[in-house]
Amino acid sequence: MAETSLEVTAEGYDFTSGSLCLDFVNTAATHEPLTGEDLHSYAHLVEWARQAGIIGDETVAALRTQAAEDRTAATALYTDAVMLRETIYRLLTAALGEHPSDESDLETFNVALTATLQNARVAHDDEGFYRMWREDVLPLDRPLWPVLDAAAGLLISPGVLNRLRHCDGQRCDWLFIDNSRNHSRRWCSMSGCGNRAKARRSYARRKRANPSLPIEDPVSPTESRG
Ligand SMILES: [Zn+2]
Repeated sequence: MAETSLEVTAEGYDFTSGSLCLDFVNTAATHEPLTGEDLHSYAHLVEWARQAGIIGDETVAALRTQAAEDRTAATALYTDAVMLRETIYRLLTAALGEHPSDESDLETFNVALTATLQNARVAHDDEGFYRMWREDVLPLDRPLWPVLDAAAGLLISPGVLNRLRHCDGQRCDWLFIDNSRNHSRRWCSMSGCGNRAKARRSYARRKRANPSLPIEDPVSPTESRG
C-alpha cells in the first residue's frame, strides 16, 4: 500500500510537455506496463500540483493536514489519481490512433469530469472574466481539478491533438505537444530520449566498425530521463 507521508523530498517533476494534463500523464515513464512511477503517494500528488503551480502554498499546507488526519482517504484518493492518469493516457493514445477508444475509459473520465466541473467558477476583475476554482471547500481531489479540465480541453481540441506526439524513445511513453516549427519533434526531450537515441546510433556505428565491442545496449534501462 502506498505510504501517505506528510512531506516528500522535493522531486523535480517535468513540466515540458506543453500541456498540464500531459505533464500529469508523464509522471510515469511507461504505462502498459506501468514503470518509472514518480507519484508514490498522496503527498507526491500534492507536491506535483505545487510544482505545477496549480495550488498555492496555503492549499498545499491545508491538504497535507487533511491527509494526515485521514490517511485512508488520502491513500484512496492517490489510488484514484493514478487510475485516472492511466485512463487519460489511454484516451490520448486512442486519440493518436494507437488503439480504439474504450467506452468504459470515457465513462470513468466523464464521471470524474462531472464531479470536477461542479467546482468550476467564472470570476471577473478589471481585465475581464477568468476561470477559477471554488475556494470555499478543499477536498482531497483538489489537485486533480485543473488536470481533468485540461484533459477535457485537449481531447476536444483537434488543432492541438494534431500536434500530440508519443515519444519515440525506448521504454518511454511520454506524451507531448510538438510545437517545433516543422512539426518534427520525436522525443520528449533532446537531453533525455533524444540523447539516448543518438548514443545508440553512434554505438551501432562504432560496433559495425569494431565488432569486438560488447553486444549490450550502452544505455541502462533503469536510467532516468533527463
Ligand atoms: Zn522520451
